[in-house]
Amino acid sequence: MFEKILIANRGEIALRIQRACRELGIKTVVVHSEADAEAKYVKLADESVCIGPPPPSHSYLNIPAIISAAEVTDAQAIHPGYGFLAENADFSERVEQSGFVFIGPRPETIRMMGDKVSAKNAMKKAGLPVVPGVDAPLPEEPKEISRIAREIGYPVIIKSAGGGGGRGMRVVHTEAALFNAVQTTRTEAQAAFGNPTVYLEKYLEDPRHIEIQVLADKHGRAIYLGDRDCSMQRRHQKVIEEAPAPLLNARVRLRMGERCAEACRKIGYHGAGTFEFLCQRGEFYFIEMNTRLQVEHPVTELITGLDIVQWQIRIAAGEPLRLKQRDVELRGHAIECRINAEDPYNFTPSPGRITSWHMPGGPGIRVDSHAYNGYFMPPHYDSLLGKLIAYGDTREQAIARLSIALSETVIEGIKTNIPLHQELLQDAAFLSGGTSIHYLEEKLSKMARDE
Ligand code: ADP
Repeated sequence: MFEKILIANRGEIALRIQRACRELGIKTVVVHSEADAEAKYVKLADESVCIGPPPPSHSYLNIPAIISAAEVTDAQAIHPGYGFLAENADFSERVEQSGFVFIGPRPETIRMMGDKVSAKNAMKKAGLPVVPGVDAPLPEEPKEISRIAREIGYPVIIKSAGGGGGRGMRVVHTEAALFNAVQTTRTEAQAAFGNPTVYLEKYLEDPRHIEIQVLADKHGRAIYLGDRDCSMQRRHQKVIEEAPAPLLNARVRLRMGERCAEACRKIGYHGAGTFEFLCQRGEFYFIEMNTRLQVEHPVTELITGLDIVQWQIRIAAGEPLRLKQRDVELRGHAIECRINAEDPYNFTPSPGRITSWHMPGGPGIRVDSHAYNGYFMPPHYDSLLGKLIAYGDTREQAIARLSIALSETVIEGIKTNIPLHQELLQDAAFLSGGTSIHYLEEKLSKMARDE
C-alpha cells in the first residue's frame, strides 16, 4: 500500500479523498491555489503545497507544478478527484512517466473514453446498446450532414466529441436549423475543448439518466455496484441523484450491470468508473463513460456499504478485488442533493463569506462538504459547496430524512440552492418515482412564466 498520496484537487472532493487516505493510514499531500490556502482540509493534510494563483489554468490545471509538488513531498501516487485533470490522458501519462502511480485507469483508456465518438464505438463493440446515430464525426459537406440527420430522424442532438460537463450540445428539430447549429456547435467546441469534432445522435424526448458504477482491478476482475438515477438535471448538469434507480425492472437492471462489468473486462479497464445511459421505455442507450470518481458516488456507498475511494486506492496499488459480484449487496435507498452557492432560481453564482453554518444530522444523514462557519467561497471555481445525502430503508424514508435535513440546514452570508431542493423533494412527479431528464428545465420555465 502507498505511504503518501498527493491529492490534485480542491473543495469537497479533496476532503473526501483525504478522509479515505487517513482511514487507510496513508499520509496526504494537498496541493492548493492561493485562493484555497486557508481551507480547513489544507490544514488537516500532512503536507500542503501552493501551486499557483487562483485561476485553474495557473494552479489546478498546471501539470508541471503538480508533478513537482509530488516530487518534493515524495508522494507515491496522485489522486485526481473529478473535474480539472481527472480525465486528462496527458496528465495521467506524465504522472506515470515521472514515476508516480495515477489513481485511475490507463492513459489509453482515458483517451479512448475522452473522445465520445471512439467511446461509443468501443462500447458498441463490447456489446452495449448505444444511442442511435452515426458513430463517426460529422463530415463538412452540408448535403451529407442533412442526409445523416434525415437517416437518424428528427429531433437530433449535435454533440461535441471532446465535450464534458453538460456543455457542447445542441438540439435540432428541423432541417432548416441544422447546418447553422452544426457550425455554431463546432466553433463552441473548438473554443471550449480545443476540438471542433461533432457528431449526431437521436435526441431522446423522454429518457431517464441511469448510470452504472463499476470497479475493476488490474488483474482482470470487474464488478458493478448497482445503478443510480441522475435525471433531475439543469443544463445537462445533475442536481439530485439517487440509488438505486427507481422503477427499474429487476431483469433489465441485472443485465445492464453484467454487461458493463463484461465491457470492463473486454477493454482491460481498471479503477472505478461509470457507464452513463439514457433509458427510455425499458431500453438502455450508452452515452458515455466517466473514467473517474463521480460527484454522486456517496449514494452508491450508502446502499452498498463500500468505500469507493478506498477501492480506487487499493486497485491503483495493485490489490486484487477481493469482492465478488455476489458479495455486493444493495440495501435501502440513498438520495443526494448538490448544495451549490448560487441563487436558487436564476442560478447566478454566489461566492463570498459564510457568516453562519449549521449542518444537519440524525439517522441516515451524511454531509460531504469542505465548508464551515467563516469559510470564504472563492469565485474562481464551480459553485459546489457540498453534498447532503440521506439513506433510508425505502425511497420514501430517504426523501423524508433529506427534507428534514434540508430544513435543519442553515447557511448564511451567501445564497444556496437549498430552497429549490426543498421544492423538488415535494414535487409530485419526483415523489411518484422520478422524472425524465427534461422535467426540471420544463418546471423551471413554467415557474418563470407564472411569475
Ligand atoms: P457530458 O459529458 O457533457 O456530461 P453526456 O453525453 O453525459 O455529456 O450528456 C449529458 C446529458 O445531456 C445527459 O444526461 C442528458 O441529459 C443529455 N443528453 C445527452 N445525449 C442526449 C440524447 N441523445 N438525447 C437527449 N438528451 C441527451
